[in-house]
Amino acid sequence: MEKKEAKVIHPILTDKHREFGKRVREFAEKELAPHADEWESRQEFPISLFQRFAELGFLGIRYPREYAGQNLDFLHSVLLSEELAYSTMGGITTAVTVQNEMVGPPIFKFGTEEHRQKFVVPMNRGQKIGALGITEPQAGSDVAAIQTSAKKNGNHWVLNGEKIFITNGFRADLVLVVARTSLEKGYRGMSLFLVESGTKGFTREKLDKVTMYCADVGRLYFKNCSVPAENMVGEEGRGFYNIMWELQGERIAGSANAVGRAQAAFEAALKYAQARIQFGKRIADFQVTQHKLADMATRIDAARQYVYYVAWLFENGAYPVKEISIAKLLAAQAASSVSDDALQIHGGPGLLMTSSAQRFWRDARLSRIGGGTDEIQKEIIARALIPKK
Ligand SMILES: Cc1cc2nc3c(=O)[nH]c(=O)nc-3n(C[C@H](O)[C@H](O)[C@H](O)COP(=O)(O)OP(=O)(O)OC[C@H]3O[C@@H](n4cnc5c(N)ncnc54)[C@H](O)[C@@H]3O)c2cc1C
Repeated sequence: MEKKEAKVIHPILTDKHREFGKRVREFAEKELAPHADEWESRQEFPISLFQRFAELGFLGIRYPREYAGQNLDFLHSVLLSEELAYSTMGGITTAVTVQNEMVGPPIFKFGTEEHRQKFVVPMNRGQKIGALGITEPQAGSDVAAIQTSAKKNGNHWVLNGEKIFITNGFRADLVLVVARTSLEKGYRGMSLFLVESGTKGFTREKLDKVTMYCADVGRLYFKNCSVPAENMVGEEGRGFYNIMWELQGERIAGSANAVGRAQAAFEAALKYAQARIQFGKRIADFQVTQHKLADMATRIDAARQYVYYVAWLFENGAYPVKEISIAKLLAAQAASSVSDDALQIHGGPGLLMTSSAQRFWRDARLSRIGGGTDEIQKEIIARALIPKK
């Protein structure tokens, strides 16, 4: 009997999804990966890449056509995040995820039609770069502790405070900033504001980091920074809740980033294990390497299935906070451990700056911290498991 080619068909993915994923991978391998050494050592990728992403239909994935979007579902965002890992530069995946899944959605959902036209449309066209400013030096996991203030002054709001670790922050044309509009109201005292580059009182600096070399991650300062009243996004006092909503989509996309990074690291290690000869054998012939590879594949597969599942739930109108945190935790831990094992399989050459193994390993470390740490995901999961007394 004629042997059929084995093909794994995921029940959630259609041919359209698979075709899209293939296009992203080809782009990442052909147009991005060859520049990895240069852009990583320069700690910057060309800003024109955003326009290239737009040309290819990789920005504004989930928005309607009339907003320069692609009118595609969340699984396309997941595949974009996964397949961009083949660029070997987490910094690029993160920059695009911030634009598509962190900044755009809250502006689109909670903002006005004017906000959509002025900010979301140019972001989807790659003409404007967005950043999201939540974290502050004194407020990381504890978002409710944010101190950046916004005070009303006539038809303006005046912002004072600082944001730290803001991806795209140094080059962004617009930053969606979470600020406190009332000291008295706790969670209910926060609102969202759009601050554009060039606004008086808004300055920034680029941070040096061990991860995501080619991404720009900034520290932002607001000193008597006055923005027009119409730059408030959503209702006054709803900022905390709106950001908690945004975090769910961000976490799914971040989980997909992690799965993609794990997969790409795994494939590099699998290839290397079959090429490297020691003691007269391929290192892939040692059982210890085989078991390591089997464990890696198992962790990736489990995480991927779960990420697809929550993306599908989210796309279909569910708001599965506990499941999203499970996906984030699983994927982040898979990326971290798989990239570490992949580096181990590479031995010394894996530690050379020209090796993709060290990039996957350094970049994977962010997954357990950014978008809510592992410990915070466990808090969320535990809270859902144990009802309040
Ligand atoms: C490269 C990079 C890019 C980033 N991009 C962005 C961005 O674009 N926008 C943005 O707003 N932020 C961004 N962040 C910030 C990121 O979201 C925060 O670093 C993260 O939320 C953790 O906050 P923290 O670093 O202040 O750590 P902390 O909150 O101080 O936590 C320190 C440690 O304490 C633990 N901990 C804290 N609270 C608890 C608790 N209740 N129970 C148990 N353990 C706890 C944490 O898990 C962690 O291990 C980025 C960070 C990095 C490094």
